[in-house]
Amino acid sequence: PRGLTLLRDPLLNKGTAFTEAERDELGLRGFLPAHVLSMEEQVARVLTNLRSLPNDLEKYIALNSLHDRNEALFFRVVCDNIDEIQPIIYTPTVGLACQRFGLIFQRPRGMFISANDRGHIAELLSNWPYQAKLIVVTDGERILGLGDLGAHGMGIPVGKLSLYSACAGIHPENCLPVVLDVGTNNQDLLNDRYYIGLRQKRLSGQAYDDFVDEFVTAARAAFPGVLIQFEDFANHSAFRLLHKYRDDIPVFNDDIQGTAAVALAGLFSALRVGGGKLSEQQILFLGAGEAATGIADLIVSAMMAEGLSEAEAIKRNWLTDSRGLVVKGRAGLTEHKLRYAHDHAPLDDFLTAIRTLRPTAIIGVAAVGGAFTPEVLKAMGEINDRPIVFALSNPTSKAECSAEEAYRYTEGRALFACGSPYDPVHLDGKTFVPRQGNNSYIFPGVGLGAVASGSKLVTDEMFMAAAHTLAYLVTPEDIEQGSLYPSLPRIREVSAHIAEAVAEVAYKRGLATAPKPNDLMAFIESQMYNPLY
Ligand code: NAP
Ligand code: MN
Repeated sequence: PRGLTLLRDPLLNKGTAFTEAERDELGLRGFLPAHVLSMEEQVARVLTNLRSLPNDLEKYIALNSLHDRNEALFFRVVCDNIDEIQPIIYTPTVGLACQRFGLIFQRPRGMFISANDRGHIAELLSNWPYQAKLIVVTDGERILGLGDLGAHGMGIPVGKLSLYSACAGIHPENCLPVVLDVGTNNQDLLNDRYYIGLRQKRLSGQAYDDFVDEFVTAARAAFPGVLIQFEDFANHSAFRLLHKYRDDIPVFNDDIQGTAAVALAGLFSALRVGGGKLSEQQILFLGAGEAATGIADLIVSAMMAEGLSEAEAIKRNWLTDSRGLVVKGRAGLTEHKLRYAHDHAPLDDFLTAIRTLRPTAIIGVAAVGGAFTPEVLKAMGEINDRPIVFALSNPTSKAECSAEEAYRYTEGRALFACGSPYDPVHLDGKTFVPRQGNNSYIFPGVGLGAVASGSKLVTDEMFMAAAHTLAYLVTPEDIEQGSLYPSLPRIREVSAHIAEAVAEVAYKRGLATAPKPNDLMAFIESQMYNPLY
């Protein structure tokens, strides 16, 4: 393309950075102002603009429109300022963006596949002009901790895939965000004149499963070997879909498995400070959904690797849900909770559960804002010298406690990780730098490793390897300041190491379809998209 067509192609456009020679050669004379900017200058201009905007939603909108105009510049801005930008293009701001999606919607990104497309999904996917290697798909039923947002959930696959490209260098052309619009049961949305999705109740039962299956089959036919990441499905679909496909094709569910790896890595880091082995910990979850059972399952595997029997390891993980402690014999327990339904009297209060079970770690993944009350935190501090407190729920309004509260009510002894970003905390002359137990440490690298090796499956062993690798990259300086994760600006290095570890598993287990390179790390790095003109 040349001229205006070129300027309007976000994959090729460089805007004011087109050089004099390019302007001649590509028919751009007259379409651009005279002064030529470097990419660095463009980045600085974008940041100046962003920082002058009144709120994060405006910043989200501005970054999206940059993404639509000039993809390389968008990714340069993200990569070079990941600490500042990630909370805008992903959690927490993306949650607000999804809630307002109908209003802020400008240019479509990714593919919207609705229940009306049933029987025609293959045709529809053939419209996609690029070769997808990685699909992130949601049905919008459980967006972050915000519930059913229907087709407005599209913000999540879009945001996640931006992180895949920025944090692990998966080429944007190989990334396809998809929303399966099966309707919504959110009455506010059904009444909302700006709702962008199908105005009907969700498909369910066999019709739903058939629809998802038609999509998966069509996607694999259109894009052979494509890795499919399920994202923000409700419990009743997430576990079922994962189990249905995971042993046959490359799929994973980040809410279950990615969360598990990032939490396990955080525990490994915490133990570097607090001492003791993972297999000695007693872990109590607030929540018994995808995140909680995903984390518990990976902890069980890791405890078994330290020598516990499966039964012993399971016994060290306790769940609480909306009805209290998950115990054996409680009526109506759903399947994914059964593994952790231990013999115990019913308890309906989290604080009592802490006093009774005396956990060394509490992990909040219930999306109940403020659930780690001062009393809860103090109790953890009484029981433990170094209590492990992970408040992982998103967005910030759903966080179990803030970083400040975690440190304050434990006299600075908490080993803390959060799901939302918090500024450093100053307490009694000491500065703590809390870091997010954010899945974005894990999924980009896992995706890159799986795609680069052409892995036929994504296995739990890969997530275990990812957790070990992430924990290993935490420095003594990080630990010293209370950070259980590496600093975010190291994310591309982190992702490359995780990708290497994941690919190693794929080769070791005979799952890789790509020939094994002599130097795996060099190969992985050579695959990484670097946003430059
Ligand atoms: P989910 O599958 O819907 O699970 C939520 C769980 O919370 C359910 O088991 C629910 O109980 C339980 N719950 C609800 N109210 C409760 C209460 N008052 N007390 C105790 N438990 C209660 O959701 P999820 O995928 O696990 O995600 C949960 C949260 O974690 C979300 O905010 C999500 O954004 C966050 N998350 C964060 C990260 C991260 O940053 N690292 C990763 C993944 C998820 P019932 O089973 O009885 O309904
Ligand atoms: Mn999610």
